[in-house]
Amino acid sequence: MKLGIVGLPNVGKSTLFNAVTKAGAESANYPFCTIEPNVGVVSVPDKRLDVLRDMYDSKKVIPTAIEFYDIAGLVKGASKGEGLGNKFLGNIREVAAIVHVVRCFEDENVVHVEGSVGPLRDIETINLELIFSDLELIERRIQKTKKLLKGDKSLQKELDLLERIKETLEDGKSARTLDLTEDEEKIVQDYNLLSFKPIIYVANVSEEDLLDHKDNKMVQEVRAHAQTENAEVVVICAKIESEISELDDEEKEQFLSELGLSESGLDKLIKAGYKLLGLMSFLTAGPQEVRAWTIKVGTKAPQAAGKIHTDFERGFIRAETISFDDLVAAGSMTAAKEKGLVRLEGKDYVVQDGDVILFRFNV
Ligand code: GDP
Repeated sequence: MKLGIVGLPNVGKSTLFNAVTKAGAESANYPFCTIEPNVGVVSVPDKRLDVLRDMYDSKKVIPTAIEFYDIAGLVKGASKGEGLGNKFLGNIREVAAIVHVVRCFEDENVVHVEGSVGPLRDIETINLELIFSDLELIERRIQKTKKLLKGDKSLQKELDLLERIKETLEDGKSARTLDLTEDEEKIVQDYNLLSFKPIIYVANVSEEDLLDHKDNKMVQEVRAHAQTENAEVVVICAKIESEISELDDEEKEQFLSELGLSESGLDKLIKAGYKLLGLMSFLTAGPQEVRAWTIKVGTKAPQAAGKIHTDFERGFIRAETISFDDLVAAGSMTAAKEKGLVRLEGKDYVVQDGDVILFRFNV
């Protein structure tokens, strides 16, 4: 489950990606993550872990992590094979969601590929490449479905859907702007269209504008566009992020509070990305370690247990569960048990974000 960083040249992608890799999580904790030069693994910030560490006097804190994939080199004409166009579009196909960096800072020393800063134009340039690539894929699919339709009339519905997608793309709109039923959504998901992938727009602003806490005109443009796609916008200053990523935790807190910021742009982006991927965390806690585990929203208790160990899933008996807030209110697990706040949940329980769980299982 990777987030792919895309954007035109010279908008601040590498600066942001460097901040990602420097802030990088200890990879020993994340054996599932890919170790490649253009993949960065970062911890998902979660203040609840610190609270649990103090409660349990734990030796170790292990946050969960997500991966960013640096997809540099996307340019105008990529869908027609300009530059290494097809390769980059293929890279985007592999990611679960897109982080689109948009330049919202003026700096005469930094050349803009189009000669001037224009966030909306830049967004459209990139989006059109993805749309062109999708259009090709949809047209091929329409041809195929038409042939199959002769033998199987039930495909008419899908053909109608494909034609609807095609119209939207031909209008220059991303597939994610389509109004779909739940069933249609599932079908379109399988096509793996680039312009259907969930997206976050990162408005990269100057140092001054970041500290001003006001949206400049360029950020407003990005927000207006994002709204048409129901997408989120995260405002950052890549330059400041790259400075922050050099600092340890304590220095970082101090630096941010001096700037009047409550959290770093990267932390905001990580949290937004985690949510965008439909992910959430449940927690385990004890004197050895407190730890966050990533699951998809809607995951049931045995499958959540399987994230820790396959034996936990196979031999699942029950999940002793309490919400983080209830645990904190009670003050300790012992007190929470005395108050009857710890629930015994079975195999159909849908795990909630922030559940603190102890799994019971047969070996
Ligand atoms: P990429 O081509 O999108 O990867 O862009 P880079 O990250 O290499 O950035 C291009 C240039 O813009 C570099 O010289 C950066 O130092 C500069 N830059 C990136 N972010 C900022 C920013 O927030 N403010 C300013 N003033 N310059 C930036």
